[in-house]
Amino acid sequence: MADNQQTQLSHPTDFNSFLGNAGAVEHLRTAIAAGRLPHSLILSGPAGAGKYTLALMLAMSVECERQPRDLWSNGLSLAGFCGVCRNCTRIATAFNLADEIDKAVAAREELRETDKKETRVLIQPHPDVLIIPPDPPQLLIKLGQVRSLIHSANYLPAEAPRKIFILTASSFMKEAANSLLKVLEEPPATVHIILLSENPGELLPTIRSRCANVRLGALPVEEIEMLLSDRRPDVPAKQRTLIARLAQGAAGRALNFDLATYTTARADALLFLRQATQEPDHTALFKMTETYRAGAEGQQKTGELLHTFSLLLEDLLLIQSGTPELVRNTDLRPELERIAHSVSFQWIEQASRSLDQVWSGMRRNLLRSLSLDAFSGQLATAR
Ligand SMILES: [Zn+2]
Repeated sequence: MADNQQTQLSHPTDFNSFLGNAGAVEHLRTAIAAGRLPHSLILSGPAGAGKYTLALMLAMSVECERQPRDLWSNGLSLAGFCGVCRNCTRIATAFNLADEIDKAVAAREELRETDKKETRVLIQPHPDVLIIPPDPPQLLIKLGQVRSLIHSANYLPAEAPRKIFILTASSFMKEAANSLLKVLEEPPATVHIILLSENPGELLPTIRSRCANVRLGALPVEEIEMLLSDRRPDVPAKQRTLIARLAQGAAGRALNFDLATYTTARADALLFLRQATQEPDHTALFKMTETYRAGAEGQQKTGELLHTFSLLLEDLLLIQSGTPELVRNTDLRPELERIAHSVSFQWIEQASRSLDQVWSGMRRNLLRSLSLDAFSGQLATAR
């Protein structure tokens, strides 16, 4: 068991283990080999597309002591990393981002109350590599974090050729974004700032215009299904087909997909749909929304519910627009077809607007069950 866990947690040994988006990866490796990696770079793409994994691989190839190269017959030279030198191994300790964030948050909890407020979550696997995740609980990148970046960027790298900063999301507090903008205007020659984003549209246009943008696209369903049959033969074929579609083109998400959690959340999302399209069963609905409580756990549960609901809405649209073969929730297709024919396009539009409102209510930390009840009310009246 311990051995097995070790294998799963071990870090990627070369770029070949990065799945999909070969063109984008080649482009970045060529730039590194030529010493032309942009000083400010946005890596964008859906959750699970591998933005963070790729960013760490890029960091390893910039900082690697051995600087291995793959030479192609057409004369192209692609940067790689050895994975075993002092720089590579230290950077590689950060591959499990969720664990590193948990550790940093736990360390902050140990501090005195007054210090806690001043301490921002930062991950530093190497003296010259700083990783900045959104700071909990608001999950925004804060001014204190960008100040740490600026402070560190003013010094020359200590042990590696460059200083690398990886911001793992693009949701910023306003002052933090403005502050980052100043560094991006004139980044020091030894600094690379890599900004990961699911939605670059939420960044200030002035930040976007100062960064090179490399997009990681979604993988085709067939490619993910092949990957799953290769890596997860234990999962029944029918479930693999479903997961491949639900992963929305993200290999990482597909490999770690928790189908049980998804179907539980989806059962609740279906209750919302049914009550809006059939005779409403208020008791069942109330019992369900009551199980969504405030706090971190409730927030995650609500997030899963809303995510599954948005996928169901997309499926309804696919059926209405005459492309039912693209439906993601393949196992529910008969019921979704029935619902799709009983609601209008306007209803779906209104439902996705209400969904956005619940999301933003959650960000403002409203009582979860309250906004879910309001949500179901809106769905029923919109019809
Ligand atoms: Zn190395």
